[in-house]
Amino acid sequence: MEGKKFNCETESEKEVPAEALATARHELGEHNGINMSIEASNTFTFKDSETMNRAFQGEVGPKTGIYIYSRHLNPTVQNLGRQIAAMEGTETGYCTASGMSAISSVLLHLCNSGGHAVAAKTLYGGSHALLTHFLQQKCNITTTFVDIVDLEEVDNAMIEGKTSVLYFESISNPTLNVANIPELSKIAHAKGVKVVVDNTFTPMILSPAKLGADVVVHSISKYMSGEADIIAGAICGPAEIVDQMRDPHQGPLMVLGPTMNPKLAFEISGRIPHLSMRMKKHCKRAMKFVAKIKELDPNLVVLYPGLEEHPQHSLLKSMSNKDYGFGGVFCVDMKTEERANRLMDKLQNNSKFGFMGVSLGYYETLMTCSSSSTNSMLDDKEKERAGISPGLIRFSVGYVGTFEQKWSQFTKAYSEM
Ligand SMILES: *Cc1c(COP(=O)(O)O)cnc(C)c1O
Repeated sequence: MEGKKFNCETESEKEVPAEALATARHELGEHNGINMSIEASNTFTFKDSETMNRAFQGEVGPKTGIYIYSRHLNPTVQNLGRQIAAMEGTETGYCTASGMSAISSVLLHLCNSGGHAVAAKTLYGGSHALLTHFLQQKCNITTTFVDIVDLEEVDNAMIEGKTSVLYFESISNPTLNVANIPELSKIAHAKGVKVVVDNTFTPMILSPAKLGADVVVHSISKYMSGEADIIAGAICGPAEIVDQMRDPHQGPLMVLGPTMNPKLAFEISGRIPHLSMRMKKHCKRAMKFVAKIKELDPNLVVLYPGLEEHPQHSLLKSMSNKDYGFGGVFCVDMKTEERANRLMDKLQNNSKFGFMGVSLGYYETLMTCSSSSTNSMLDDKEKERAGISPGLIRFSVGYVGTFEQKWSQFTKAYSEM
């Protein structure tokens, strides 16, 4: 039995992600279940040998309901890819086993040996390590790191004919700089460079592809999963790029095999419809905490793009989708690692404000001292260059409990400092 197909393309350029999801229905399940079925087969049969041959020539494929093998594409994983692509406003999407596998597959696809990438100097630690060490040592792909808010520096770092990728995060981790996606895309495209944006920090809030980016990558492990229980990723972009990545003979998705398990794809697909509500909650709480913390101690350095004093406050406002805020992550600079650790200990163990943990996007607040945890692979010089102070605590704001309850837990710990 074949599930009934619905049109999954977004209907209008102007649709915000939540609206796009309303029109981008997943397939009905077998027996007309309102949830999609889990396609548990890793191998698919063909109606005849001719169809089998044509599938391997790429003449028929998933678009016409013909599948080969789940590492290439599984219908349930494809369904989730469509949902996420609708959310991002891209033609197509492919889901992977982790955010890092999405990022590495895209970079290995777009860069050749001897090639060059330009990347933001403040990046998720794993991405930074991939670009700094792995791609250079194993693949002879070099990277120039730039201050992503300095458009001139970015422009000068891209070498026409050699640079193939400009890579950055919509909001950088952990310093919370906001990238000017439209301008960066213009500069890159003028030199024939593809723009790849990691939108992990701002799903629903920002739609980088609509702002000019070519490929959008995600770590689903964070906000999209929302329960800190899953490792997964996604690649969203034009069919031209993603289909090439799935080329049955040579595509990186085939030869590196980063694909997602269909049982996991099914589980994640049920969380995307309430991502919009969750993101709004995270944003609202973060804004409220930041405002109260500034009141509590005006001398404390707080990084949050929702603050008017943040250098990219109005830029983020101009790029973000209607009715969303400024993200669910803020940072407080406690100046020294010792003070940062002391505050986190009190917040977790004395007042039960949140948990020490490296991830983000959980329903409880997670706290990490970036310098000694998620970004510890950077040496001191790299940290300084990336603007990561030793006492910087990153808060991924949760939404459980009332604000008043959580605020009294925060002030209790802070007053003991
Ligand atoms: C966590 C994270 C990644 C890596 O994703 P995994 O799912 O852990 O592989 C990449 N980019 C950002 C911004 C992240 O926060």
